[in-house]
Amino acid sequence: MHYKAPVQEMQFLLDDVFQASDFWQQTPALAESVDMDTALAILEEGARITRELIAPLNRGGDEEGVRFEAGQVTTPTGFKAAYATFAEAGWVGLGGEPEYGGMGMPKMLGVLFDEMCYGASNAFALYSSLTAGAALCIASHGSDELKQRYLPMLYSGQWAGAMDMTEPQAGSDLRHIRTKAVPQEDGSYRLSGTKIFITGGDHDLAENVIHLVLAKLPDAPGGSRGLSLFLVPKFTVNADGSLGGRNGVECGSVEHKMGIKASATCVINFDQAQGYLVGQVNRGLAAMFTMMNYERLSIGIQGLGCAEAGYQMARDYARERKQGQGSGQGLGSGADPIIVHGDVRRMLLQVAAMTEAGRALAVLSGLQLDKLKHQPEADTAALVGLLVPLAKAFLTDTGLESTVLAQQVFGGHGYIRETGVEQLVRDVRIAQIYEGTNGIQALDLLGRKVLPKEGAALKALMALVSRDLADVGEEWAAQKRQVEDAFGQLLDLAGEFKARDNAGDAVNAAAVDYLHALGYATYGYLWLKMVTAAQGQEAKFGAPFTERKAAIARFYFARLFPRFGAHLASARAGEQAVMDLDAALF
Ligand SMILES: Cc1cc2nc3c(=O)[nH]c(=O)nc-3n(C[C@H](O)[C@H](O)[C@H](O)COP(=O)(O)OP(=O)(O)OC[C@H]3O[C@@H](n4cnc5c(N)ncnc54)[C@H](O)[C@@H]3O)c2cc1C
Repeated sequence: MHYKAPVQEMQFLLDDVFQASDFWQQTPALAESVDMDTALAILEEGARITRELIAPLNRGGDEEGVRFEAGQVTTPTGFKAAYATFAEAGWVGLGGEPEYGGMGMPKMLGVLFDEMCYGASNAFALYSSLTAGAALCIASHGSDELKQRYLPMLYSGQWAGAMDMTEPQAGSDLRHIRTKAVPQEDGSYRLSGTKIFITGGDHDLAENVIHLVLAKLPDAPGGSRGLSLFLVPKFTVNADGSLGGRNGVECGSVEHKMGIKASATCVINFDQAQGYLVGQVNRGLAAMFTMMNYERLSIGIQGLGCAEAGYQMARDYARERKQGQGSGQGLGSGADPIIVHGDVRRMLLQVAAMTEAGRALAVLSGLQLDKLKHQPEADTAALVGLLVPLAKAFLTDTGLESTVLAQQVFGGHGYIRETGVEQLVRDVRIAQIYEGTNGIQALDLLGRKVLPKEGAALKALMALVSRDLADVGEEWAAQKRQVEDAFGQLLDLAGEFKARDNAGDAVNAAAVDYLHALGYATYGYLWLKMVTAAQGQEAKFGAPFTERKAAIARFYFARLFPRFGAHLASARAGEQAVMDLDAALF
């Protein structure tokens, strides 16, 4: 695995496309902890640690997988030592609250480090991502006592975090959760029940695993309003912060999976386990949502990291592998590198175009999350609500497509384990499924974010687009019109759904196509933003950088943006073609 983080691309986005320094300087909570020099130093060091420490573990981790013996989960060779080094350097607490030992870095920088981690090893990245997510939830909703006791240990990576929602009968529909939490006289709770598919639910990388568990009180109202959130440690924690005895939390087994084999996916049994309420009774889902916004973006970035890693592998292979001859060469005896062939170039360009726009979407989403946390504007919450499900689903759907294309560039060699590209295809696949399937993300996007309030969230994004595209040059004027027209059509279609009788089925049947149409329109906007920012930057990044950006943007508009129209037409086609067939006839 020869993953190398694209630091220059990342710098370009932070510095030139999104002018991060301006936002950081205007935001008191960030002005003290971060400036562009610090951010670049973090990116350089992140690139080094992911290349030297994490990427070398990726293949071995896949071959070896996690082991489950006598109730203990063991991660593959090298993971424990590498995680200790990673944690000691402060990476788990990169975005954590400085008051409790975190580094306080903004999410728009954090997304770029996340991409590096996923690019180097999906499985390794998940352990720290879940820990950072659990810490974020405690920081946002926990009592001062919980924050003081748990956050420093989570940020330092000595303890790890897990998110326990799913049960056999409660997947997408969490109303069916059965895990019970019974209040105790001392203010704590006793939890009993079984959770399945818990990422990092148990392992040997940390001294303690802190579970954030959705459960129901005995008198809870029915439905999702009856869920409360609890912090349940694997080992109890004494008042002085030292570890006590084993809590009633056991790993029952680990799953054998298609990919991310070095990530422990656990059945977790709670038997009268001592837990502590996080946030308010019956408001567990609301508390979980803070964390979910970050986790969903993080999982989107899993798709992005895999696409970038696939691009690097396929590009290098296409330059070396010689087969066939380029146009005009006739059928002589020689052979050219396959990068001369139009079809191979198409594949590489598609991956590059989707990955670079995808990275811009990740940074834009990170910026809006930072604004929401530190200084929200009128539209910030609406933008976050729209961008997070879009980023989660679009980055992972196109992430799988990109890794498959990268594999295709390798021909038969891509199907063979040695080249490493098939692992990317297997590893990225889960990102479309967990953290809420992409179908559920699309329903959330269309049903809960686009349609309410007369399309206010979409209008907020459109206002941002038209503000940002004001200074697009004449050369790109036609593409600018296409993008603005595309957003207009998305708003019109939202209005059509509102007017329909059977909007439930119509929305359900159309949501994924609507999300994809919005994705292609948004990438059009982001490509225009990038080519505009790249103009005149020859002195900073070199002429090839600017030239390459313009060429990939032209490819995007010529070959990928037309997909917008197809997805919009499918979304508009109505539910009948989907709902008519009797279930018995499938
Ligand atoms: C490797 C792995 C790691 C995981 N890690 C975690 C974790 O750390 N913590 C955790 O709590 N969970 C975790 N999960 C669980 C994961 O989040 C769920 O599997 C996922 O949310 C889907 O739930 P389900 O599997 O029950 O599928 P189901 O809910 O049964 O869905 C099946 C299909 O029906 C569709 N569907 C369901 N409802 C609707 C609807 N209303 N409208 C349209 N389509 C619908 C879905 O999109 C899907 O295509 C993990 C799962 C895996 C495989």
